[in-house]
Amino acid sequence: SGLIAIVGRPNVGKSALFNRIAGRRIAIVHDMPGVTRDRVSAEVEWGGHAFTLVDTGGIGLLRREKAADVITKAALEQVDLAIEAAHVIILAANVQEGIVPLDQEVADKLRRSGKPVLVAANKVDTQKVEAAALEFTELGFDKVFPVSAIHGEGIVDLMNAATALLPPREILEKAEVDEDVFEGTPEVEGKTKSELKGPLKLAIVGRPNVGKSSIINALTQSERVIVSPIPGTTRDAVDVPFEVEADGIRQSYLLIDTAGLRKSRRVDDSVEFYSVKRTEDSIARADICVLVLDAEAGITEQDKKVADKIVEERRACIVVVNKWDLVEESVRESREQEIERRDAKTRDRDERKVRRLTTLGEFGQWVQEHLFFLDYAPVIFTSAKSGFHLDRLLEAVRYVADQLQQKVPTSILNRALNDAVENRQPISAAGHRLKFFYATQVRQAPPTFLLFVNRDELFSDPYRKYLAGELRKAFGYEGCPIILVPKPRP
Ligand code: GDP
Repeated sequence: SGLIAIVGRPNVGKSALFNRIAGRRIAIVHDMPGVTRDRVSAEVEWGGHAFTLVDTGGIGLLRREKAADVITKAALEQVDLAIEAAHVIILAANVQEGIVPLDQEVADKLRRSGKPVLVAANKVDTQKVEAAALEFTELGFDKVFPVSAIHGEGIVDLMNAATALLPPREILEKAEVDEDVFEGTPEVEGKTKSELKGPLKLAIVGRPNVGKSSIINALTQSERVIVSPIPGTTRDAVDVPFEVEADGIRQSYLLIDTAGLRKSRRVDDSVEFYSVKRTEDSIARADICVLVLDAEAGITEQDKKVADKIVEERRACIVVVNKWDLVEESVRESREQEIERRDAKTRDRDERKVRRLTTLGEFGQWVQEHLFFLDYAPVIFTSAKSGFHLDRLLEAVRYVADQLQQKVPTSILNRALNDAVENRQPISAAGHRLKFFYATQVRQAPPTFLLFVNRDELFSDPYRKYLAGELRKAFGYEGCPIILVPKPRP
């Protein structure tokens, strides 16, 4: 489809603009150290146009450092990327700060490219600054749109103009990657991109008594969750559709095999209901697995088996450490209060994030150590009893669902992989080097990439791990396994 890229120097509100256009605000603070970031791409429909929206500023091609020259370099690098990949470019600027030299530099580069560029003069909040937006015509583009990403003003005009500049559908379709690139590749054959149509399937799994039913009960009674009965079925319907509403947007899910979780009065019930086969079936059918652990009991062999199955089935996953209320209640609470107290004094978002990671991260250490093979899953600490962090669980589900649906445009994917291969070259015993030709994302859930290389035997497990890690740095994919399939091409 068409590609619209948002570029601009840091702090002009690119990600707010991205989220406003993509229609969802994703902001989650994880309890675990690791790569945490906003989405960089989203499939968007706007007035009958379908296109991919990319925030090139969110792409981690360069390590984030605070030095001014690094910021300049990163900003200019993402402009190159946008010029290379996008059909239409939105240059975001900040009205309250006016034009700074870096804006000018970025604009010069864009002007030379000849790509259609629209200027989004962001953070327009009063009449007065709206006039100031006119100043931005100095950047040399005739289309300047005063917008407020936060309040949603001016977005309709901006996007109507942007979509009108997309190339016609016929031209775009011709340029699409041939689907037959994955012929003869059993891992991905027959799987099409449309697979993710319909609600995401969620399975809540774990051994007996960790609190699965309690979590489901608590969630389905929460104000943000709408459990919609399927006409003609009873309450015991095995799969229960539900919707989560936040920021005025509803996301639909299907909760898999709830009958297996429902309790009757008998005492030994949960043991009876826990059948390994049933759990495995749920995992196999799900898009996202929520693996529930018992904070007090720790991680048992049984937990590991379920986790193993999730990894084996390559499912997106969120780990929930439940019954958190029973563990170090007082210690945790005082820490949280301390964090909140300090947050109140800090405006820097990154600094807040880091603070949380180092404190709550300590608690997650044992989870990470014991479930190291499930390292892509975010970990959430909850109490179904008190309701603690159940909202975070919903947020994590939404976040991972979003990551799972991300489709990385081919040109951007290749740019990131080229960099990664350049930075680290595997060499075989015989002295052969890996040559990387081209990659394409062939599936979304889980994200699966075909990589055309000269020799697939150079694709060792550690190297695969390295590349997957680089893709995570670039595109997030938190909670999702990343599947890399090398294809030899002489
Ligand atoms: P399931 O077998 O995984 O579905 O577990 P249940 O939801 O039936 O919970 C097992 C037991 O743990 C019940 O007695 C629950 O009341 C209790 N329980 C569940 N969640 C929590 C929690 O967060 N805190 C505490 N203290 N108890 C919980």
